[in-house]
Amino acid sequence: TMQIFMPLNFLGFVYREIRSSLANIENLFNLLAKQSAIITTTSNKLSVTEGKIEFKQLGFYYRADRAILQDVSFVIEPGQKVAVVGESGAGKSTLVKLLFRFYDVSQGEILIDGQDIRSVDPHSLRRAIGIVPQDTVLFNDSIFENIRYGRPEASDSEVQQAIELAHLNDFIQSLPDGHNTQVGERGLKLSGGEKQRVAIARTILKRPPIMVFDEATSSLDSQSEQAILNALREIAQGHTSLVIAHRLSTVVDADKIVVMGQGRILEQGTHSQLLALNGAYAALWHTQQRSHSQNTVLDNTHG
Ligand code: ADP
Ligand code: MG
Repeated sequence: TMQIFMPLNFLGFVYREIRSSLANIENLFNLLAKQSAIITTTSNKLSVTEGKIEFKQLGFYYRADRAILQDVSFVIEPGQKVAVVGESGAGKSTLVKLLFRFYDVSQGEILIDGQDIRSVDPHSLRRAIGIVPQDTVLFNDSIFENIRYGRPEASDSEVQQAIELAHLNDFIQSLPDGHNTQVGERGLKLSGGEKQRVAIARTILKRPPIMVFDEATSSLDSQSEQAILNALREIAQGHTSLVIAHRLSTVVDADKIVVMGQGRILEQGTHSQLLALNGAYAALWHTQQRSHSQNTVLDNTHG
C-alpha cells in the first residue's frame, strides 16, 4: 500500500515556518500534504539496536537550481551528543527534516544502525526519534494532557514524573487551575521557554532512543535557558542526540561539533580541536563570547 505521511508530532517543527501564512489547522494539514509527500511501500520496521546515525554524502535540493545541502557527511556514534552549528540558512534544520524523513535526500543516504531510513516504515522511524523543536504546538487542552501527548497511553503518574524531570512542576502549580489549566490558542499562552519545557516533558515520556533538539534562541532569558539546558542534559544521558545549537556555549561539551556554512560542512571536531583550527568555529566563538559579555551587562542592569 502507498501511504502519505503527515505526522502530528512534526507539526511543531514546521509550524514556525508556515504559521505566518496560515490561520487554521486545516490549512496546515493541506500545506503539509502538499509539502511532505514522501511515499513508502515498505512495512519493515526500523530496528534501533545501538543508535548509530550516519549521514553519508548527503545532497539536498528543494529545486534543481539551488543546492541546500552538498556532500554532508558525519557520524553520530551510539550515545554520543553531536552538535550542528552555523549561520542562519546554513541548512541545519534541513538536516533534521531529512533525518525525520519529512523529505527524502536528493543524494547520498542516512543510515540508522546500518539501515537506510528510506527502507523502513516512516512510523517506526518517527517513533525512534524525539524532537524538541524551537516552537512547540500546544493543543487546546489542559497542560497535563498536552504533556501526555508525548505518549498517549502513559499513566497519570508517568506524566507527573515527566513534569518533574522537565522542571515544570513549580510553573504548573503556579497556574490558575494547576494541571487542568487550559492552554493553546484558546487558553493560556505560554512563553517560548515554557513551551519548550512542555516539549521536553513530552520527549521524556516518549523515551525515544534518538533525540533531536533545536535549541532555544536568544528570545529566552538566561535563567529559562539554563533550566532547559539542564533538563536536556539529564534526559539525553545515554541517548544518541543531535543538537542544533545557536549559542556555542551550550555545546562545548558535545562529543563532536559540526560547523556548517552554505549547505556544506566547513569543519568538524571537538570544541578544543575547532578552537585550535582557528577557522570558522573559532571566529564564531570569539564573536559570541564578546556579545555574551555585553548581554550579561544588560541583564544586570535590568535586574
Ligand atoms: P538553518 O536551519 O541552518 O537556518 P535551513 O535548513 O532552515 O537553515 O535552511 C537552509 C536553506 O534552505 C535556506 O536558504 C532556506 O531559505 C532554504 N529553505 C528552507 N525551507 C525551504 C523550502 N521549503 N523551500 C525552499 N527553500 C527552503
Ligand atoms: Mg533552523
